[in-house]
Amino acid sequence: MSQPVKRFIAGAVCPACSTMDTIRMFEVEGVPNRECVQCGYADTLDERGNSVPSELTTRVNVSKPKADKPTTQTVQFFPNPRLKKKPE
Ligand SMILES: [Zn+2]
Repeated sequence: MSQPVKRFIAGAVCPACSTMDTIRMFEVEGVPNRECVQCGYADTLDERGNSVPSELTTRVNVSKPKADKPTTQTVQFFPNPRLKKKPE
């Protein structure tokens, strides 16, 4: 029951590789998904029918887990006491 039924869409053109009749469609929990057997492109259709590329989103999240590491966290500031102006 959990295996989605994938069926080819006749005449459908892949938005990624522009190949016809390579798009398969299937539903996951009632959400229509598409995938291209030619280039591996995959996307999801939201309730408005808009294409939501699922593969791109996944790649972005996985490919850079620590890309936003800050570079200023180890900078330490040692004040020079000679530069301090002490009131007499
Ligand atoms: Zn394709």
